[in-house]
Amino acid sequence: MAKGSTHLAIEAFAGGIVLTTSIMAKGGGHLPAFIRWEHLLVFGVGFVFSMFLLSPDLDLRKSSHSHRWGTVRFIWWPYHLLFRHRGVSHNIFFGTATRLVYLTVVVLVIGMVFAHLWTQYGPGGIQGSVPGGGADLLLHNFSLAVYFIVGCYIPNLIHVTVDLVS
Ligand SMILES: [Zn+2]
Repeated sequence: MAKGSTHLAIEAFAGGIVLTTSIMAKGGGHLPAFIRWEHLLVFGVGFVFSMFLLSPDLDLRKSSHSHRWGTVRFIWWPYHLLFRHRGVSHNIFFGTATRLVYLTVVVLVIGMVFAHLWTQYGPGGIQGSVPGGGADLLLHNFSLAVYFIVGCYIPNLIHVTVDLVS
């Protein structure tokens, strides 16, 4: 079983190649026009985000991956209880989706709690904005969301492959 740091090194190496190649291809006009620069950007952001913070090994009670969430790492405890190690969390189709959906739900719930507390106890006269606006933004920019999600999937697929062969 590969260590977290091994996973990270392999994913960073692959990500570096994929991103450099696609940036060079885009710069040279070798990519179709519908793939825009901002698509490559959100793809890269998704890739790095997933590599560091969305690892399939978040299904472990303690891992370097959950540790990277710092003080908010507790949000992954229920995930670890829900998903046994190397189960659905490591499925090539559903694994990343479980974490993206899980995280979206957690952020929305926390956002709603904060919004509620803000309207109940916050200073009057100031309109509280509901956190989770990022998700809203993504929904309104469907193609950006797709590239972000693809970016999130690839390091996870590499992780699962490395798990299989190690
Ligand atoms: Zn794993």
